[in-house]
This record gives sequence, C-alpha cells and structure tokens, in this order.
Amino acid sequence: CGIVGYIGPEQAADFLVAGLRRLEYRGYDSAGIVCAERGTLSIVKSAGRVDELASLLKRVPARGSLGVGHTRWATHGPATDENAHPHVGGNGVLALVHNGVIENFRPIKERLQQKGYVFHSQTDSEAVAHLIADELAMLPTSLDDALDPYAPLIAAVQAALAQLRGTYGLAIVFRDWPDVIVAARLGSPLVIGVGDHEKYIASDGSPLAGHTDQIVYLADHELAVITADSIRVVHRDQGDVEHDVKQLTIDA
Ligand code: GLU
Repeated sequence: CGIVGYIGPEQAADFLVAGLRRLEYRGYDSAGIVCAERGTLSIVKSAGRVDELASLLKRVPARGSLGVGHTRWATHGPATDENAHPHVGGNGVLALVHNGVIENFRPIKERLQQKGYVFHSQTDSEAVAHLIADELAMLPTSLDDALDPYAPLIAAVQAALAQLRGTYGLAIVFRDWPDVIVAARLGSPLVIGVGDHEKYIASDGSPLAGHTDQIVYLADHELAVITADSIRVVHRDQGDVEHDVKQLTIDA
C-alpha cells in the first residue's frame, strides 16, 4: 500500500515512521520498517497502526542510516505480524517491502521451498524476497570482480523481476551492501526525493514535504540504485537511462 525509504546521515527510522504517518490516509492494516547498520538488518513490524509500530520502536529501536518502511493493505494472507512487511529473503541477506500483487507467486514459492527456502508468511511478497536472494546466490562469481560494486544487485534483481507476473513497487536493502537501496516499479508508483547527501523513497510525494522538493519519478520497468550521493536508473531493456530531477509542488 505505502512505501517509504531513507538513506543519508540521519537515523532512517525517524523519517520512515514520520513518512508512514503521512501515508496513513491511504488506509492500511499493518506497518513495519527495516534499518541496516554494519551488516545487521533490524526489522520491526506489526499488524495495526503506525502508532503501535512507533511504540514498539521505543522498546526495540531499529538503528541505521538507511532503511525502508511499509504500510500494508493485505491481498495475500490476513493482517498478522508475520504477514506485515518488510520480508526477509534467503536467511537474512536482504529485506524488502512490496506494493502490489504478484499473480504467479505460488509456483515460485513452491520451487523455492523445494530448494530449501523457509517461508514465514502467507504473502506473495515474501516469494519475491527469496527469489532475489536465490538469484543473488546463483550469480556467476565473475560479477564479484566487476568494477561496479552494485552489478550483482542489478543482475539479481533484474533476473528475479523477469520471472514475475503482476504489479510491484519494491524497495530493497541488502545486508552485505550497507550503503545502497534498490527500488523498482511496474504498475505501482515510486518517487525518489533528492536531498543534500541524502535520498528519500516514497510511493507518493506526501512523505517528502518539508524534506525536499526535488523528485525523480521512476517509470515502469525501471530500477534505481540509490546511495546517499547518487541515483542510477536502469531500464529492463535499455540499460542505464538518464533521469530528470523535477520540482514537486505539495503543501507541507
Ligand atoms: N500483496 C502484498 C501483501 O498482501 C502487498 C499488499 C500491499 O500493496 O500493501 O502483502
């Protein structure tokens, strides 16, 4: 339903929770965030209101200067803590939030379960998390030597997305790449907010008000590799594409 993300010098959780509150008008049944710090992904999520998430976070803080968050409108699996996003892929190598519906998640889930992946939810989204982790694990090691440190992430995410039927806005953090968020969309909106040494992600402009009015709109079949200081947009068929930074007009 709603997606937020942050990467920069601040604690990500502060923006994530505030951003999720700004998305509450869309309606939702669960909320959660993941933050990454020094090889640790901290996930806090629950069925219910963003207020409940915020009070959980007072007891169990999620630390890290990058992270993503989600408000869920359940389509596959009831509104439970387990089904709330983020979902972990491959034993903790990544965590993601997903808007939309993956129509062919069942055969993907069955194949991955046969390969040994353990599912903790009934969502379609968790299948995407494990699928990307599986593609990452199967990459040829030659990609490790590439000059581009994010080449494995782009290759794995693109290989996974090529297998999906349905709609998605995705924001993904990786345990072993602690300085990057990967976002992707097909039929579900995502914008990237451009700040000074910091970047924001949101499913609509409202969480960005008061933070930045410089926006990159992601298009269908594009993925973005987002660091605090850079945005790279890669199209499924065209490879790297230019992205325009546009002015967002919104009442703060
Ligand atoms: N299909 C996913 C789920 O049921 C995402 C729903 C949403 O867009 O919030 O968890």
